[in-house]
Amino acid sequence: MELPPLRVTVWNEFRHERSNPAVAAIYPQGIHEALAAPLRRQPDLRVRTATLDEPAHGLGDEVLAATDVLIWWGHKAHAEVSDAVVARVQARVLEGMGLVVLHSGHYSKIFQRLMGDTCSLRWRDATDKERLWNLLPSHPITAGLGECLELPREEMYGEPFGIPTPDELIFISWFTGGEVFRSGATWRRGHGRIFYFRPGHETHPTYHHPQVQRVILNAVRWARPTACLRDGAPRVEPREPLPPG
Ligand code: ZN
Repeated sequence: MELPPLRVTVWNEFRHERSNPAVAAIYPQGIHEALAAPLRRQPDLRVRTATLDEPAHGLGDEVLAATDVLIWWGHKAHAEVSDAVVARVQARVLEGMGLVVLHSGHYSKIFQRLMGDTCSLRWRDATDKERLWNLLPSHPITAGLGECLELPREEMYGEPFGIPTPDELIFISWFTGGEVFRSGATWRRGHGRIFYFRPGHETHPTYHHPQVQRVILNAVRWARPTACLRDGAPRVEPREPLPPG
């Protein structure tokens, strides 16, 4: 049976690209368009983008209701994301929507809320190379990836990472400076699947890297909802007659 199209919304803060020429040179249409472009080449996906400065951050009720998997990139304006939008995104994840959180999204309101933890880490933007080791070569998220993925220049994120123990640890990164980091991990919250993927500092061309694009595509397909189940806590009638009281 053929599945209906998978509806993907790519959300981006879209501030660095408009204020830093070095970032604009790498992502002239914005990080969201760089993330969306390879997804749009997939015939089974329907891809839209949304950004912080749109009304309701581009994530109104209609958009969220028509989103199967949401991708999230944010960094310097986490505090500007409205709590009402965060609550709606959380509710959609609990109903079954997939969520792929990228890089500095570790400190986003939505990721912190879903993790229930600090999501803190150590960092350095210098001259490190990053090597992501593929820990689960049979997992759908690492399909076609080989034993590791190397990025010649990336920001370093180091442990301890303030997250609850993942359901599945997909990648561990090693950096030239010696640190390691849990750079790909999954969780379930309610009926929704969540994947955190570390690479993607805005001053490096990481989202143009074919293997990074491959991981994100794999993750989008992995996070596809299997159901949309609203929480209602209903009072129910007994299935069998109850003994007289
Ligand atoms: Zn960064």
